[in-house]
Amino acid sequence: MTVQSLEKNNQSHVSVETDFLENPLTEFQSVLKEALDVLHYPDEVFEMLKEPIRFFEVRISVRMDNGKTKIFKGYRSQHNDSTGPTKGGIRFHPDVTPDEVKALSGWMSLKCGITGLPYGGAKGGIVCDPRKMSFRELELLSRGYVRAVSQIVGPTKDIPAPDMYTNSQIMAWMLDEYDHIREFDSPSFITGKPLSLGGSQGRETATSKGVLYTLQLISELKKLPIKDMRIIIQGFGNVGSFLAMYLYEMGAKVVGVSDVIGGIYDSEGLDIPYLLENRDSFGVVSNLFDNTLSNQELIEKECDVLIPAAIGGQITKRNADRIKCKIVVEAANGPTTKEAVKILKERDILVVPDILANSGGVIVSYFEWCQNNQGYYWTEKEVDERLKDKITASFLKVYQTSKKHGVDMKVAAYIEGIKRVTEASRLRGWINI
Ligand code: GLU
Repeated sequence: MTVQSLEKNNQSHVSVETDFLENPLTEFQSVLKEALDVLHYPDEVFEMLKEPIRFFEVRISVRMDNGKTKIFKGYRSQHNDSTGPTKGGIRFHPDVTPDEVKALSGWMSLKCGITGLPYGGAKGGIVCDPRKMSFRELELLSRGYVRAVSQIVGPTKDIPAPDMYTNSQIMAWMLDEYDHIREFDSPSFITGKPLSLGGSQGRETATSKGVLYTLQLISELKKLPIKDMRIIIQGFGNVGSFLAMYLYEMGAKVVGVSDVIGGIYDSEGLDIPYLLENRDSFGVVSNLFDNTLSNQELIEKECDVLIPAAIGGQITKRNADRIKCKIVVEAANGPTTKEAVKILKERDILVVPDILANSGGVIVSYFEWCQNNQGYYWTEKEVDERLKDKITASFLKVYQTSKKHGVDMKVAAYIEGIKRVTEASRLRGWINI
């Protein structure tokens, strides 16, 4: 694999700069509180879930190509392991913060709770800009991170995976480093691996397929056929680009997409195959056009479905009243703040939350882990069918919970996500409720 192809595959989830206007941990805690209040759970539960049970900060030394040594900060947050080992990706991004990693690990616990995976949530991050690093530097950084956290991760402890700006090549280096430390082959230590190292069929496209299956359910619910949908996708990375392709193939009009630089919009529908063919190695397409918009302008354009598939903190109380779609499907983690969800609800705009809509990634990671543990591998069709079953069951559960309690789908998803971790913690004697 070349540096170019690493870069091309490197945009897992995100291709625009981080702009969390609110603190993601505060966001997580405030929706958590609301969900716990609906369930009438005592404060003890909030106290347990509001922060991770374990949080590590490490420093990784890398000899850079210019001969100098650079120290990178890394984090691993393990939110709750009452239901099993913890699970979650590792992101490489210049703006990674401890609070962001903590919140993301909490969201992973909820994702695993909703979908019934035998895991608690985790998340890792390294403060770095992979777009400015060579292939060699990235390899050293990836291996250094595994050495730094090797005591606390493992196939039955905490299982990492790709996230923003990390990909299957990085997972391969991390696996190799772990195998050397442990002195045996342990493919189930990490998911999102290349197929030849025990990766699963369908893992690369899992998050976008999950979003697509969610859209199919919404289409039935709202009696709005996919082929009649006008869709804007913010972010043309791993999730956004596969999703755009699927939707285009199904006859939907993808009227807008954006990348790290800006957005493009055409009310007649964009030529997605042309964009996929001509994007550069970082998934940038907006530079192919003259009349571009900013990311913020693009998400305020008219459409039926808006899919933020880039980064957190995109729809906030500052712009929620200018959003002109019928449905928001959160493919990124944390793109819509709690306050924005309330404003959108008042305006009759449905928000399908991230912890439901983008859970396809961790679902297929779970399948990968099962296949590694069994040493028996499934076909892409088997993976896809099981993914669809799980997403469908989760969606219906969350939708019914939102109706039952009269709450938005975000709060309903938290309610569903909380139940199992609370039950498991109670049975273990960690809380007394
Ligand atoms: N990073 C992905 C997420 O945020 C996938 C995690 C995993 O596969 O463990 O859901």
